Amino acid sequence: MRVVDFHTHVVPPWVIQERESLAHSDACFGMLYSNPRGRLATVEDLIRSMDEAHVSISVALNIGWCSHDLCVRTNDYLIESAGKWPERIIPFCMVQPTSTDFALKELERCAAGGARGIGELRPDAQQYSLADIELLRPLVNVASSHRMMLLSHVSEPVGHEYPGKGTITVEQPYALARAFPEANLVFAHWGGGLPFYALMPEVKNTLANVYFDTAASRYLYRPEVFEIVSRLVGADHVLFGSDYPLLSQQRAVDEVIQSTLDRGEQTSLLSGNATRLLQRGGSLLG
Ligand SMILES: [Zn+2]
Repeated sequence: MRVVDFHTHVVPPWVIQERESLAHSDACFGMLYSNPRGRLATVEDLIRSMDEAHVSISVALNIGWCSHDLCVRTNDYLIESAGKWPERIIPFCMVQPTSTDFALKELERCAAGGARGIGELRPDAQQYSLADIELLRPLVNVASSHRMMLLSHVSEPVGHEYPGKGTITVEQPYALARAFPEANLVFAHWGGGLPFYALMPEVKNTLANVYFDTAASRYLYRPEVFEIVSRLVGADHVLFGSDYPLLSQQRAVDEVIQSTLDRGEQTSLLSGNATRLLQRGGSLLG
């Protein structure tokens, strides 16, 4: 079965080399990676993992850097990586929304370089809220004009603590989805449970253009989550994501295949929905 992994992270080799000092200088990077057990991978590592797990294409996400300069330098790497593996890597870039005009310029630059979205946004560490609609409006407008998607980390307001859980809970992505019904939004980690509120008719309507990825699923939920969320928001609104290198792509693929979803739904999750979303002029990677 063809697989598109919508949630992976890669960093340039210099980030791995300068890990310790970056963990001190950038609050988001520090929150995620000051623990040496938090894995980091280069694009070469990702390609190797994709070959092993038979993943055709990965969306390579950036990290929610706080500093504009680090966004720019790592965006360069993601764009270069996609240039090296044009059939396999789809780059998403990062901006620091609070740097306003600089962020908009950087977004334009990344769109011209081939970035297909922004992510994984970390509003809590980057010091804003997804519900700050006026701050985000210019960014969403520029992204939409280039048909770029926005992918944000979201986590559960309840349940166990884990490194990087953060405080972006369902109210924030919901406010964003209400404000921008036309934008293509992806909320990571099953949207922090937002799909469960799709039992409310008005919430279901608001989520019409919203997608949920499955990144880190087995750290968070029982396997039934695949079937339950697919019933609530539609299997056409769920995107397979592994959260590599935090988790193995192979194991994440196996979870979908072992789920109770039927074959057609598994195909939608593993590649069909992503292909539809990322298609441009007949080609996925165009
Ligand atoms: Zn995340």
